[in-house]
Amino acid sequence: MKGDDYGWDEGKKSEAWEVERELRKTFDRMTNKVSLLLFTSPTKNEPFNEATRQIIRGIRQLTDKVDLLEFDLNHKMAQKWNAERSPTLLFGPERYHIRWLGAPAGEEVRTFVQALIMMGQGTTSLEEQARKILERIEEPRHIKLFVSPTCPYCPQQAVNALMAAIEKPETVSLEIIDILANPDLADEYSAQSVPQTFSDDILIAQGAQPVELFMLSLDRLEEQSFFIPDDDAEEIEADLVIVGGGPAGLTAGIYGARSGLNSAIVEKDTLGGQIAITPFVENYPGVSQAGGKTLVDLMVSHALEYCRIFQGEEVMDIKTGKPLVVITNKRRFIVRTVLLATGAKHRHLDVSGESRLSGHGVSYCSACDGPLFRGRKVIMVGGGNSAVTEALHLKNIGVDVTLVHRRDTLRAQEQLVSNLRSNQIPVLFNTEVQEIRGKDRVTEVVLHDNKARKDKKMEVNGVFIAVGYEPAVALAQKIGVELTPEGYIRHDSRHRTNIPGVYSAGDIEGGYKQIVTAAGQGAEAALSIFEDLVNPYWRKETAEEQLKTNQK
Ligand SMILES: Cc1cc2nc3c(=O)[nH]c(=O)nc-3n(C[C@H](O)[C@H](O)[C@H](O)COP(=O)(O)OP(=O)(O)OC[C@H]3O[C@@H](n4cnc5c(N)ncnc54)[C@H](O)[C@@H]3O)c2cc1C
Repeated sequence: MKGDDYGWDEGKKSEAWEVERELRKTFDRMTNKVSLLLFTSPTKNEPFNEATRQIIRGIRQLTDKVDLLEFDLNHKMAQKWNAERSPTLLFGPERYHIRWLGAPAGEEVRTFVQALIMMGQGTTSLEEQARKILERIEEPRHIKLFVSPTCPYCPQQAVNALMAAIEKPETVSLEIIDILANPDLADEYSAQSVPQTFSDDILIAQGAQPVELFMLSLDRLEEQSFFIPDDDAEEIEADLVIVGGGPAGLTAGIYGARSGLNSAIVEKDTLGGQIAITPFVENYPGVSQAGGKTLVDLMVSHALEYCRIFQGEEVMDIKTGKPLVVITNKRRFIVRTVLLATGAKHRHLDVSGESRLSGHGVSYCSACDGPLFRGRKVIMVGGGNSAVTEALHLKNIGVDVTLVHRRDTLRAQEQLVSNLRSNQIPVLFNTEVQEIRGKDRVTEVVLHDNKARKDKKMEVNGVFIAVGYEPAVALAQKIGVELTPEGYIRHDSRHRTNIPGVYSAGDIEGGYKQIVTAAGQGAEAALSIFEDLVNPYWRKETAEEQLKTNQK
């Protein structure tokens, strides 16, 4: 055998010495002593108890700044520190709330050493953005992190959790649970793959996360899949600012940036716009079924690959001219073009049960939710083109639909009304919905007959509502963008508004209000903006066409 008794050659031996030397130096720099309390029982998990002792012994050969006290689980100290499992290791328990259930062995030795160093130095290397998120967590967080000695990804997540517990000991407590030593706990939490992180018994991460995402997930108590860094700049220059981070705005961001435009998206509220409040999406090509949040995460992560996103920032005003100045509640953007993608909201009936049962039988989109009601009985509320078209759509896919309208005539086009008749869709005229009932899902509606002045109940499985939209045009109006008689943004075929440099896309333009159409319009608008910027001559040529369209 080459080398010594362990089969180590000279190279490996000097590598080990080098690591040992570095560790000694790092431990020497520690300003605080770290006290460890180990609780064990000779009859429980003895191999794990012994592995823990050996690892700590190894560390104590390198430094005198780590103290160890070991107690039996029957000792009163175990009661004092609430230690019930063997082995339980507490780190500086007078200051921190950090415990390790199991042995910090294998891959976890790295985590253990790092924990000692961070506590010994009294600080972590938490970078600024992650620190800011951690600082805003005010309510207590109790983290349970499941790991195993053979998991190479676990130390990253464990160090994230340790940083939170060391930086904020008064708010964050941490249990690192080795699933080999504690299979019963792993079963209880269904933690069959590691690392898995729970906070307050809510699963907040599967797998290892970048530290900012870990802190965000801890803050929101929900797994987060993207992180947008803060930006303190008071003034930002860009080719294109997109107002609104719904599917139209996010797609425009991707297309704008991929065309070489320095693009930024400003979203005042939740990224994803209306998709963020959609329980399930089943009609976006390539995604046969996805939760709204999943689709939002995919779109936002994709957009972030290309352009900057400013979330939680509202565009308050736009000064038109060359350049345009976009004023938000946080800063100014000096830009060449602006895309308005501010969306629209469904009008509500504002009756009892409507918001509680929204997504549980109350729907505003027959194209989205209609197939779920095939063979079932629903009402469609409204009397305009949308309500009649959507009632016809529902009938066509096999839904038993009755139209409910509060007046005595429909406002829809004659052809649509005649289709309604030929499809034998019943219409309840002079009827208003008073209440939508059901425990977990819609089972009944209370209708009021305006003529007979009587209420009646009707058993239904669903209530579709098409009583109009409220396009978000306040900003557009403020800067003088022309609207259509229906209140949407007037635009030409290339998404230009009447104001040079200002464009529109998505629900704000009227027409079909779907994710795929909004995304398509966002893509078209961004390409049109790019062409206008690189070819101003073309912009002039088509100005006449634009005027004609605008006058329609
Ligand atoms: C409950 C529900 C379910 C739906 N289900 C489906 C479905 O299954 N399939 C489907 O295809 N479609 C569905 N839709 C419709 C679809 O979500 C919309 O058509 C689509 O989201 C429109 O995209 P948008 O980008 O034009 O606008 P929005 O999604 O409305 O986004 C506009 C964004 O602009 C932001 N904004 C507004 N003003 C400002 C400002 N001044 N500064 C900064 N930001 C601003 C808003 O906060 C918003 O996030 C559903 C809609 C709802 C409400």
